[in-house]
Amino acid sequence: MTNSNTRLVYSDEIGSTCLKCGHPLKKCQCNKQPANAGKSDGIVRIQRETKGRKGKGVTLVTGIPLTGDELKSLAKTLKQKCGTGGTIKDGVIEIQGDHRDLLLNLLLDKGWRVKKAGG
Ligand SMILES: [Zn+2]
Repeated sequence: MTNSNTRLVYSDEIGSTCLKCGHPLKKCQCNKQPANAGKSDGIVRIQRETKGRKGKGVTLVTGIPLTGDELKSLAKTLKQKCGTGGTIKDGVIEIQGDHRDLLLNLLLDKGWRVKKAGG
């Protein structure tokens, strides 16, 4: 049974299918934010906070796309790399002292979009 008249059934779907996930564009989820992104705009921001702080103040890291144990684990790593203490408050990592440049490099290594914000 040979049939030279094989129809290219899927040919007219080319151009309407997402190249990343292979789903029709109507069903594509690639550009949709995960539910746990919350108020984050996908950019991790690093800023120094000196108001009401002693000495050099603290470096705040906001917009991290992690929660729970993953966030704790990252905070621990960052504290070790900076050789200082720190804490997590409402999803924001606080690192003692001014370590903006070091933190910038560490977070860029994770493949995130990172910006230094404020002064
Ligand atoms: Zn897709």
